[in-house]
Amino acid sequence: MPLLVCMPPNANNSLMKEAFTNWQKATKNKVSFVFLTANACPDAQITVSYAPNKRKSKTDFSYVGNYFTKAHIEMGLLTKEGRPSDKALLLVLMMHEAGHAIGIIGHSNTPSSVMQPTVKKDFYITEDSIREINKLYK
Ligand SMILES: [Zn+2]
Repeated sequence: MPLLVCMPPNANNSLMKEAFTNWQKATKNKVSFVFLTANACPDAQITVSYAPNKRKSKTDFSYVGNYFTKAHIEMGLLTKEGRPSDKALLLVLMMHEAGHAIGIIGHSNTPSSVMQPTVKKDFYITEDSIREINKLYK
């Protein structure tokens, strides 16, 4: 800690930083982040790219034993209906992908959790996700 997050120059970076920072706050700094804006950062644990024409985002990540090592987020910027996501929804979608990027493998069925398979704009980080992070990062 902190994890280095690498983002290419993009208008959505401040929202992406907010998404990661929300995890940092929710976990009381159990996970923490520093951000670098560059097209490539060899030392980054988490890299982000943006897909302006995609409706879906995806996050790949890897482990060594129990330890999270590296993740890549490809952030789709369209809604399921194919329109540009508004900021409030995009923030929640980013929090969802950031959750996977820091090691949450599955999805939550807790009401209003950002880790539900389908999210809405007022969803937030719920206790079950915080417990999962606390187990991953001791
Ligand atoms: Zn997911």
